[in-house]
Amino acid sequence: MISVEEHLATILAAVRPAEPVRLPLSDCVGLVLCEEIRSLVDLPGFDNSAMDGYAVRSADVEGADPAVPGSAVTLPVVGEVAAGGVATMPVALGQAVRIMTGAMMPEGADAIIRVEDTDGGTETVEIRAGAAIGTSVRPAGEDVRIGTVVLEAGSVIDARRVALLAATGHGDVLVLPRPRVAVVSTGAELVAPGQPLAPGQIHDSNSHMLEAALTECGAVTTHRLTIGDEGSEVIRVVEELAGQVDAIITSGGVSMGAYDVVKEALRDSGTVDFVQVRMQPGKPQGFGTVGERRVPLFALPGNPVSSYVSFEVFARPALRTMMGLRPAGRPSQKARLTHQLDSPVGRTQVARAVAVRDDAGWHADPVWGQASHFVADLSRANALLIVPADVTHLAAGDEVEMWLLDGDRARLTAWPADAEAEGAGGAVGAAGSSRGLTHVRADGSAHMVDISAKDVTAREASAAGRVLLSPQAVTALRSGGVPKGDALAVARIAGIQAVKRTPELIPLAHPIAVHGVSVDVDVADDAVQIRATVRTADRTGIEMEALTAVTVAALALIDMVKAVDRHARITDVRVVAKSGGRSGDWSES
Ligand code: AMP
Ligand code: MG
Repeated sequence: MISVEEHLATILAAVRPAEPVRLPLSDCVGLVLCEEIRSLVDLPGFDNSAMDGYAVRSADVEGADPAVPGSAVTLPVVGEVAAGGVATMPVALGQAVRIMTGAMMPEGADAIIRVEDTDGGTETVEIRAGAAIGTSVRPAGEDVRIGTVVLEAGSVIDARRVALLAATGHGDVLVLPRPRVAVVSTGAELVAPGQPLAPGQIHDSNSHMLEAALTECGAVTTHRLTIGDEGSEVIRVVEELAGQVDAIITSGGVSMGAYDVVKEALRDSGTVDFVQVRMQPGKPQGFGTVGERRVPLFALPGNPVSSYVSFEVFARPALRTMMGLRPAGRPSQKARLTHQLDSPVGRTQVARAVAVRDDAGWHADPVWGQASHFVADLSRANALLIVPADVTHLAAGDEVEMWLLDGDRARLTAWPADAEAEGAGGAVGAAGSSRGLTHVRADGSAHMVDISAKDVTAREASAAGRVLLSPQAVTALRSGGVPKGDALAVARIAGIQAVKRTPELIPLAHPIAVHGVSVDVDVADDAVQIRATVRTADRTGIEMEALTAVTVAALALIDMVKAVDRHARITDVRVVAKSGGRSGDWSES
C-alpha cells in the first residue's frame, strides 16, 4: 500500500499545464491569463458627464444657491447630448447644453449641474445651484491610462476582471484552456437516472457526479459514457477517447471482485498502475497515461462516496495543475469536532462532515453515514475531514484538518432558505450570535424564561401604529368604496385573531390567557391609525400581543386596499401604554 501523498505526487508529476489558447471573454471565467494585458484605451475615454443635467461654464452659475431666494440663473439651452453622441454646439459664455450621464462634455463647458438642481427646461433652464469647475465631470484617463498594465500574466479571470478586460478593449485573451475530460462509468448494473430499474439494477450516479465535479472545478466534460463489464469494451473506449480528450476518468471495476473490469483490462497496458492507497474511502486506485498523447487516466473506485472523495483528493488537484492553478483548491481549516470520530488503523480517513462557523471558529459534525455507499449523507456534508493515518480516535472537541467544499460560506441554498441557514448555523452560528442574549444560553440553546414563580396580576397593554395611504385610498375607505369590501372591519378582526397567535409567531413569547382585546381603527386624511388594547391576568406582560394586533391589522388593511394604493406603508408601530406587573404602569405621553 502507498500513502495518499505518494499517490498524489505520482499523479502531479505526470500532468502539466496545457498549451495556452486565445479565447473570447465569455469562455474565460476561472481560467488563468497567460499574457500581460495593457489597456487599449483611456478610461474614461473622454471627459464626460457623471449626471443627467446641464453642461455649463462654472462662472455663469457662481451665485446660484438653493438657500438664497432669487439667486437662480436662467440660461439658454443651445443643444443636447446623450451618451454615444457628440455635442455639436460648444458652450459659450452664458449658455447651457442639456447632457445625459456618460455623454461627452461639450467644448467650453467645465461643470455639470444635476437636473435635480434645475427646472429641467429644454429652451431655457433655470439653474438653482452653483458648481465649481469639474463638478460631476469624469475626466479622461482618470481610471486607467492607455498603455498601462491592467492585469499580469497568471491572474485568474473572474467577473470583476472580465469587466476590466472588456472596458480596456480586450475581446479575447490568451489563457490556459479548460481540460476536456471524458467520464466513463463501468458496471453491468447501471441504468441512466430517469429510466426504470429492473431487479438488481441501480442508477448511474457517478458519471453525473463526476461531470458536475468537473464543471465545478472549471474543466469540461466532453464525453459521459456508461459501459458494462466487458474488458474489450473498456479497452476500445479508452483507446478511442485517448485521441480526443485531455483526461479520462473511469469509475468502478478497480477493486478485488470478479468483475473488476477496468483493472483487468488496463493493467496490461503497461502505462496504468493499479495501487492500494492507505486511505478510507478510496483504497483501490488506478492512474496512468494512455494513448500517444499520454493522456492522464484516473480509474476511480465505484462506490459513490469513494468516487467523489477520490476525485477531490486526486483528480481535482491534477486538473487544477493542468489549468495552471494551485493543486490544493479547497480552503483548508482547523475545525473542532462536535462528536467523536473513529478512524481505521493505518489509513488516512477522509470523513464527510457538516461544518459551521461561529465566533470560536469552525465546528465539524461528522455525518452519520461514513460508509462509502451513503449518498444522502455525502450530499448533506459541506466539508471533508482529513484524519491522518496514525490517528485512530478523535474525541468531541479535538481539532481536525478540514477542507471546505463550498468555500468559506454557508452552503448555497435558494432564498429564502438561505436567510434561515444564516441564522440557524450558517455563516454565523447560533452560539456565536448568542452573546449577551438573556434568552439564549452559553451553549447556544434558546429557552423561554421560567415565569412560574412570578405573581399572577391583571395586566393591560396598548400599542399603536399607522398605515400611510394615498388620498384615493382614504376616500375609498371613507365612502366604503374599497373593491374587496369592508377593509376596516377586516383589519380589526385580523388584529384580534393575531393576538391569539402571538406565541406561535414570536419565538420566546409565553402563551398566556388573553382575557380581552380591542382593536380600533381611525381614518385620518393621510393614514389609518390603529390602536390595540389587550388584557390578561397572568405572570408575564402582554405588550407583544398588543404589537402583534396592530401589525397584523395593518397588514390586513394593506391587503384590502392594495388594489387602490400600491404604496401603502406601515409606520410607527409601538407600545403606547402598559399597566400591571412588576415594572409598573407606563404610558407614552
Ligand atoms: P465496483 O468498484 O465496480 O465493484 O463498484 C462498487 C460499488 O459501487 C458497487 O456497489 C457498484 O454497484 C457501485 N457503483 C459502481 N459504479 C457506480 C455508478 N456509476 N453509480 C453508482 N454506483 C456505482
Ligand atoms: Mg463494477
